Amino acid sequence: MSPADPYVYQARELVEPDWTRFPAWRQVTTAEWESVQWQRAHCVKTIGQLRAVLGDGINERFYADLERDQAERATMSMLMPPQMVNTMVPGVAPNDPQATEALYADPVRRYMLPVFSDRRIDRPSHPYATRDSLHEQDMWVAEGLTHRYPTKVLAELLPTCPQYCGHCTRMDLVGNSTPQVIKLRFGAKPVDRYDAMIDYLRRSPGVRDVVVSGGDVANMPFTNLERFLERLLEVDNIRDIRLATKALMGLPQHWLQAEVRAGMERLGATARDRGVQIAIHTHVNHANSVTPLVAKATRAMLDTGIRDVRNQGVLMAGVNADASQLLDLCFALTDRAGILPYYFYMCDMIPFSEHWRVSVAEAQRLQHALMGYLPGFATPRIVCDVPFVGKRWVHQLADYDREHGISYWTKNYRTSIERDDLEALTRTYAYYDPIHTLPTEGQRWWERQTAPDSRRQQVAAEQAARASRQAATAQASS
Ligand code: SF4
Repeated sequence: MSPADPYVYQARELVEPDWTRFPAWRQVTTAEWESVQWQRAHCVKTIGQLRAVLGDGINERFYADLERDQAERATMSMLMPPQMVNTMVPGVAPNDPQATEALYADPVRRYMLPVFSDRRIDRPSHPYATRDSLHEQDMWVAEGLTHRYPTKVLAELLPTCPQYCGHCTRMDLVGNSTPQVIKLRFGAKPVDRYDAMIDYLRRSPGVRDVVVSGGDVANMPFTNLERFLERLLEVDNIRDIRLATKALMGLPQHWLQAEVRAGMERLGATARDRGVQIAIHTHVNHANSVTPLVAKATRAMLDTGIRDVRNQGVLMAGVNADASQLLDLCFALTDRAGILPYYFYMCDMIPFSEHWRVSVAEAQRLQHALMGYLPGFATPRIVCDVPFVGKRWVHQLADYDREHGISYWTKNYRTSIERDDLEALTRTYAYYDPIHTLPTEGQRWWERQTAPDSRRQQVAAEQAARASRQAATAQASS
């Protein structure tokens, strides 16, 4: 018998899990379920609301675990539309004796509804974890407009989403404050911020690509979003517009509204006339989230004439950091929903994220495991968003100190804060693996480091790690 390949492709139909298994939604009709107003009105924002939805079948231990996380660890507040809740433990009724353990193990629950026992006790945060780990605010050229790459910018139009993900990299700004994180707030009025963004783009002919994000653009009144996009389409140099919305998966009912479809058709027609590409970028992390309603909303968007719908997931241990899970997700997206698998980001170095993060070596292994199963154009790249550098494919590193878990990366352009920095293109920039993934000596080395509080100390630690490695190499070769 010849050995089987590590992954065996199987065509699978999408399934909308039966929401009537939840006691609170036993009487909910299909018309109600498919209504965005009903979905928004029944979002789960508190433990009390979660209890009401799940009924008495879930052990108290789970709720206590969740409550402790919200008090001591959570960087994002709880917010899930029923559509997302329904993709957790899809085949299990909440009164099933196995429901509590199934909920604990569920991949969507693990990132949308984190509990205290999910997180690492030894080192819940990396010493270099920061609130704005990508330093996007440092690179604001107008409030909420990050200019980090030569030809593209990120426009954060609003700080809210229809759902809040536990691992959100914009946890500094997005969502409601939690006991651990008092959120920053935009200072200027939205209308003034948008004016300043458009003004910057008009004055910057080198910028051709705008990621219109937040938060999630699904939380913006559509007429306001349409007006902003119309203004963007009038800027001659803008050739690509990407709308960031996890709600295409979390609240597909939003994108299925007649008003939204009609508006996107108008925008699609204008974009075509002007030779501009509009695409939607969504954020799906697990195959269980890809349901027929998600596919329907995607079809509706593609029918408006926009160029593409692409997925940017986040690679997380316990959620999807496994080749089979990633391939199942990619096939669900591309076969059944018309969504192009595009990127998987390594989870960023925000506070309390160590249990989700994987090492660069593991990301490289996963990238290798994905190769060859999907069409080349639909094979996602796993990328590391290196602070002060930007996205890099995980095999692009310049050097890798595996003992200390420090990878070194280079860049080929200056960000907006390095205009006069002569060494920006010759120095290396560090990224850090989770410490619990390191060999024992590497973990001990980190224990000896004092908690850093500045970039200067960070650089000193990198230099110390290099010196320690060089000394070990010299000793081994002498
Ligand atoms: S949808 Fe995006 S911006 Fe909103 S909470 Fe999730 S990761 Fe953050």
